[in-house]
Order: sequence, then C-alpha cells, then structure tokens
Amino acid sequence: MSGTGPQAGGGGPRHGGHQPVAPTLDLVTTPDEPARTGRAIFEDAPPGAPRALVVGAGIAGLAAATSLHRAGWRVTVCERAGARRTGGYFVRLAPEGVEAATRLGVEEALCSRLPADGFITGVDGRGRTVSRVEAAIVEDGVSLALVRGDLEAALWDGLPDEVEVRFATQPRTVSPAHGTVTLAHDGAEHPEQWDLVVGADGVRSTVRDLVFGPEEDFRHDFDHVVVSALLPGLPGQLTEGDYVVLVEPGRSAHLMAMAGHDPVVFFTYRADLPQARGTTPAADPVAALGAVYGDFGGLMPEILALVAAAGTTHADTVGQIHLERWSRGRVVLLGDAAWCPTLYSGHGSALALTGGESLGRHLPVVGGTVPDVPAALRAWEAERRPGTDVARTAARRARHFFLPGNRPVAALRAGALRVLSQPAVAWTVRTAARLTGRTERPERVLHDEVHPTVTGSSGRTAGVAP
Ligand SMILES: Cc1cc2nc3c(=O)[nH]c(=O)nc-3n(C[C@H](O)[C@H](O)[C@H](O)COP(=O)(O)OP(=O)(O)OC[C@H]3O[C@@H](n4cnc5c(N)ncnc54)[C@H](O)[C@@H]3O)c2cc1C
Repeated sequence: MSGTGPQAGGGGPRHGGHQPVAPTLDLVTTPDEPARTGRAIFEDAPPGAPRALVVGAGIAGLAAATSLHRAGWRVTVCERAGARRTGGYFVRLAPEGVEAATRLGVEEALCSRLPADGFITGVDGRGRTVSRVEAAIVEDGVSLALVRGDLEAALWDGLPDEVEVRFATQPRTVSPAHGTVTLAHDGAEHPEQWDLVVGADGVRSTVRDLVFGPEEDFRHDFDHVVVSALLPGLPGQLTEGDYVVLVEPGRSAHLMAMAGHDPVVFFTYRADLPQARGTTPAADPVAALGAVYGDFGGLMPEILALVAAAGTTHADTVGQIHLERWSRGRVVLLGDAAWCPTLYSGHGSALALTGGESLGRHLPVVGGTVPDVPAALRAWEAERRPGTDVARTAARRARHFFLPGNRPVAALRAGALRVLSQPAVAWTVRTAARLTGRTERPERVLHDEVHPTVTGSSGRTAGVAP
C-alpha cells in the first residue's frame, strides 16, 4: 500500500502497520512494493457513504474495489487466502485490459515480459522442432505478456488507502435481498450489512454457490486439466524471451522464459487420457504431470524435475461458467465467478479488469444516497455481456488449437504453423489481423450446452489455487 509496504497476512484489516507477506501454499508471495500510480485522483468516501463488500482480492476484486471507492463507496475486500496471492502463471493482457488498467491508473506498473520480436517454437513429444513462428504473429502492439502477479501487484499498489482488506476471511451466508453477509474469520462468524456485495471470488465462487446455486448448474467443463508452475531455472539451452510449446495429441505444455521473472510453464491435457487415469491433479499435480508427460523426451524430463523441485502454482480442470443473470438483489458476480471464459480465450484477466473497473461507473453515489443497486447492476450487465460472450465463443474454438485431440488435428495444427512460419505469410496475417480488428459476432450459447461434467480430477482442494 501507499508507502507502507505490503499489508498481508494475519487476516486483520490492512491498515495497521507494516506486516510481512506470509507465504501461501499455492502461490509465490513477494515483498516487492513498486511505486503506486493514480492516487492523486482518488477522493475519500464520506463516513456515511454506502458500504460495499468485495469478496476476493484477485484481478476483478481489486479493480472493483478501486472503482467503487472512486464512485463514493466505503469498500471492504475480504480474501480467503491468508496473504496476497502473487506470482502465479502466464497472462497475456488483451488491449481492452490495458485500457482498463490505464483508466485505473495502474498501467505504468505493467511491462511486457516477452520480446515482441521473439519466436514461438513448437516441439513434439520426442523433442523434435515441428514449427517456429514469429511471436509477432500474436502481437497487436498493445497486449502485454505478464504473470498474474504483475497485475495483482499493480492493482494492489493502486488500491486507495481507505479500502479495507481482510485476509483469511470468507462468506458463510449471503442474503441478496438485505445485503447481510456472515463473514468467517479466525473461527468466529459475524453477520454484517452491506449495500452492495460483489462476488469476485473466481471460477469456484462461494458467493455464486450461496446465492445462485451449485456450480454444476452453471459449469461447462472442457474435460481438460491445467497445471501451472514457476521454474527455478531454465531448462536446456533456452534463454530469456524463448517461448516453447511442447505438443502431442491431448497434451501440451507452454514454457515462457520471461524477462526479470522465473520462467513460467503451464500444462494442459485431456482429463480422459489413459495416462491420467488414477491421478489426482488437484491434490497431487506433480505426480499427475509425471504420469501424463513421463514419456516425453527433449526438454520435458528437465522441466518435470524443475516443477517437482518448485511445486505448482495452480491446478484445476478447465471449465466455463454460464449464468443467465449475474446479479440478484444487492449481490453481483464479477470476473471468473460470473463468466469464466477459461485460459483459452486469452481474455479472462482483461474481462475481470474491465468488469471491475466499469462497476463503479454504473454505481455513482450522489449526495451520499445509495443508488438503485439492482437497476444499476442490470445496466452494467447489459454493457458487459457482449464482450464475455465473444470471449467464451473464442475459447470454445481455441481449445482445439491449444490442445489438438488427435493426430490429424495435431498434424493440421503443425502444418498451419509451418505455413505461418514463412515470413511473407506471417507478415500478411499480422497485417490482416491489425486491419480487421478484434470484433467478432458471439455465438449464441444454448442453455443445454451448459452441463455438469466436472471430472473426477476437478474440485476445490486445499492448497490449489482456484
Ligand atoms: C494457467 C492460466 C493461464 C491463463 N492465461 C490467461 C491469459 O493469457 N490471458 C488472460 O486474459 N487470462 C488468462 N487466464 C485467466 C485469468 O487469469 C482469469 O480469468 C482471471 O485471473 C480472473 O480474475 P478473477 O479476479 O475473476 O479471479 P481470480 O484471479 O481467480 O481471483 C479470485 C480471488 O478470490 C479469492 N477467493 C476465492 N474464494 C474465496 C472466498 N470464498 N472468499 C474470499 N475470497 C475468495 C481467491 O483467493 C482469489 O484471490 C489464465 C488462467 C490460468 C489458470
């Protein structure tokens, strides 16, 4: 926080002196405290202002907390983890996310960690190079290659001092009509009244469970597993800026040698692979990776050894969330809790940022009066829906490219990449992408596409980031 060092751990409010950042089981914590930006424009909320509770100090929650404070709310954030969740996994922040970060005044703290003129090298399970394309093919000149912790740190440092953060605190009951929330902390439970409750608690949202119903009613599972890790060193001869994709049908691993950061790797594989049978990726991701990728050659044995040494930062099944409505009474869902598009969309963090940043603009406190919360939330949702529909549609298509299901699709993918690796083709595609922009008509999502197919390997497991 502003000039006071990170306030984390202990579960108490964050205003209370300099406290060390306690390590969490699932994500690396750092004591870094980069300069804050944008503070000058924040105005203090008057003591009688309406109160908002934001559940989850992730990307969406921190963005919402800042924007609601700006709109005149007194904001409290409660976070289940005992400390800030920093580090994490690779995140490409799409242009609309960069724009939202700019509006929040935190963009200066965000720097791309992969060179735009690098290469993405495709390697098969035997370690043979099958494609090599310019990274510029996925560059639009605006997106940023980050780790999740970069975004968290920028938002945390930009959080107004008046926003209260309670760690190791989570909701047990939520009443959408009255805004009453029973918060559990340190073995005790206390009901508190709020004018607005924001469920920004990720894809495995507790607020959604408590207010809207069980996750299986809204989850569209891809039956893929994702595991991410930060490596303590670079395998093989790789150097900073390298991006390597190791692919076999049903299995892939993406390794990025990020500038000024430990290398990041994420694995995605089909949950129904024979090799995955009997493994429990949420409970023991390292053993699951060993079983699924153990027959890979090339860099993989070294990567697996590095993951075993360092542990993982995230392990879960991949699934989208589809809800007919994101708000009920005084409660609204935001970010992955509301619309999770999955990592395959490449827009989850941008949507979380823009969703949080725009929330306050729809809920301005005028003359100390509580706005018409349900009406404002409906208007906010109408504005946000089209973008999330596009992202989820894109993810459903992109998953086959990320994770080809069989040899013909894998061969098609490698062939397409070989074509793209021709400089003239790459230039044409890049130029066309820039000229046509990013707009795409969303596919209609039918309710019967949403089915409860959470695999045996999924689930909320202690020590595994949601
Ligand atoms: C491997 C991987 C790669 C990805 N790559 C990209 C990418 O390239 N580009 C991109 O845009 N997106 C990417 N994403 C998706 C992106 O990270 C998410 O969409 C984004 O982080 C969602 O933000 P959020 O704030 O909604 O949820 P989260 O970031 O998950 O934050 C939720 C917060 O709520 C807290 N919480 C959970 N339950 C409770 C509770 N009961 N009470 C209190 N607090 C609670 C959690 O501890 C956490 O701090 C990727 C995701 C993964 C897993």
